[in-house]
Amino acid sequence: MQSLTDRKKVVGNKEMTFKEKLYLPAIFKGMRITFSHLFRKHNTLRYPEVKREFAPVYRGQHVLKRDEQGRENCTACGLCAVACPAEAITMVAGERKKGEEGLYREEKYAEMYEINMLRCIFCGLCEEACPKEAIFLTDRLVPSTFERDEFIYGKDLLVEDVDLRIDITKRQLTGKRTEK
Ligand code: SF4
Ligand code: SF4
Repeated sequence: MQSLTDRKKVVGNKEMTFKEKLYLPAIFKGMRITFSHLFRKHNTLRYPEVKREFAPVYRGQHVLKRDEQGRENCTACGLCAVACPAEAITMVAGERKKGEEGLYREEKYAEMYEINMLRCIFCGLCEEACPKEAIFLTDRLVPSTFERDEFIYGKDLLVEDVDLRIDITKRQLTGKRTEK
């Protein structure tokens, strides 16, 4: 039968020579290979101190956007949750009360909105399904942690700060899927 590679070796019961019994030549050979790697260019980075540059189409941590007046765009319509293939999004809709017009853009809003980042596959379908330009994926990494609960991102982590807006223009301009 033809072998898949040419790396096969015939194994025999040959008596070891005196040099082989010393093991030293084999040890030196191994050390030479180890030291030669010390001076090679490393392919790994010291993350998180050093980060690789991402492609403009990279899809990372989500953001729930506000409008120019600082009101939440999301109306809790649920389309993002329906579109999500990983069933990572859950929400509870609420009715906007009198006096809350400055907080929520429309009469319905998301009282609770959560994304399970352990389920999410960062496909971007939630972003595409949203009719209100409320949810976008950004170039931010979801930080690692040892606790599973900490991967459930609620509104406190998803809704952008009024005074610290998340720029999504770079990915939106270069990363959008184009119709064929
Ligand atoms: S990016 Fe994809 S998997 Fe993640 S929440 Fe959105 S639709 Fe679901
Ligand atoms: S993020 Fe968009 S699609 Fe999802 S519930 Fe809010 S408005 Fe609807």
